[in-house]
Amino acid sequence: MKTDRSRQMLAEANQYLAGGVASSLRAAMKPTPLYAAGGKGARVYDVDGNEYIDYLLAYGPLILGHSHPLLNEKVYQAMQKGYTFGLQHEGEIALAKRLTEILPCADKVVFSGSGTEAVMMALRLARAYTGRQKVVRFHGHYHGWSDAIFTSFPSADMKSQAAGSAAGEAVPGTGGQSVNSLEDVILLPWNEPDVLERTLTERREEIAAVITEPIMCNSGCISPREGYLEAMRKLTEQYGIVLIFDEVITGFRLGLGGAHERFGITPDLMTMGKALAGGIALSAVAGKNEIMNLVAEGRVDHLGTLNGNTVSTAAAMAVLDELGRDNGAAYRQMERIAGQLAEGIRSLMKKYNVNGVVNQPGPVFHMMFTDQQEVAHFDQFGRRDAAKYGLFAELMLDEGILLRPNGLWYVSAVHGDKEAEETLKAVENVFAKRPEFTA
Ligand code: PMP
Repeated sequence: MKTDRSRQMLAEANQYLAGGVASSLRAAMKPTPLYAAGGKGARVYDVDGNEYIDYLLAYGPLILGHSHPLLNEKVYQAMQKGYTFGLQHEGEIALAKRLTEILPCADKVVFSGSGTEAVMMALRLARAYTGRQKVVRFHGHYHGWSDAIFTSFPSADMKSQAAGSAAGEAVPGTGGQSVNSLEDVILLPWNEPDVLERTLTERREEIAAVITEPIMCNSGCISPREGYLEAMRKLTEQYGIVLIFDEVITGFRLGLGGAHERFGITPDLMTMGKALAGGIALSAVAGKNEIMNLVAEGRVDHLGTLNGNTVSTAAAMAVLDELGRDNGAAYRQMERIAGQLAEGIRSLMKKYNVNGVVNQPGPVFHMMFTDQQEVAHFDQFGRRDAAKYGLFAELMLDEGILLRPNGLWYVSAVHGDKEAEETLKAVENVFAKRPEFTA
């Protein structure tokens, strides 16, 4: 694999683009951040002419793969009429209606541009609804980069920093973040029902919201322990605390109704983004009338010049049509391929005596090198060998497989048996050739 052209382009970018890349995480890719020339289906091509099977999938949005014909057609049709009006249009009603039909928690929705904005809005709604200030969030979860909630990159590619200090105090994650911004954040370990119960009981009068990823996708794809989300639901209900499921990753990925449908637990609010519009910028908050009506009543402002534009709403309709087709055939396909990959990687680990864990809750999974038997808690995730995985991702590039350097894999509806087979062959090549991976 040659990456000369990507390296040259990065050098050029550095002259004009602060940091060289458009989002800080992207700088972590080794041997160099790649420049894309294009993508088709499950494959992406770089400017040096290399082809890769893509499991980065733009950090999650490309649930239909690259340049999907239906998405292209619908977006193009929408663009013929105009991109955005700052007026209302039919497409936003159609999408809002569809979302209320498919998401168990959605009486009403509001649209925004990114997951970060959706989280900002959800927190605002929760504070206005309860008249309280504090927000409970958890170690290892990521809820975007706004000052109000950003602690650090919990799964920072190649950094294995904890999200916040060990003492449980949320600390700003970046230079320039207001030092007071996290005063209202209570940071707790996740998957510990007793800690949650104690905190919510003691501080119930101050707490507006509990925000959680329903599966901790940002740190190891760790699933909730049995009964944990149920307990969270029960306690928040009991104390009048707004429960927010941040489904920016899990929404439309674990099923059309997201993780909350899968677990049968209905949060008060849900945030979504990434897969919703298949790679076009769109996010949303959905929730119950009582809370969402604060917007209609003029008690909570919701703003954004490009919110609900024709292009993004048309894209989302196309994604939802495609994902819902043939009774969810796309999900069966994604589950099958992701299962095949996870199982295949586990057996190759055994065959080559490689210590590792693959947590695979669905068409997103986390592969880690570790001596531990399981990664079921954020502390265990912190003990994985992040540097070894970084090396693995780099070697996989040579084999024609594009991975995120932190271990999270996304599978799209257009990844098939051929891709899975080629990928497992590549994993085998790396394990067979490189002694570093053998225990
Ligand atoms: N919430 C979760 C759970 C996420 O994974 C992310 C992005 N990785 C966000 C929020 C922020 O979304 P965005 O990058 O679109 O602002």
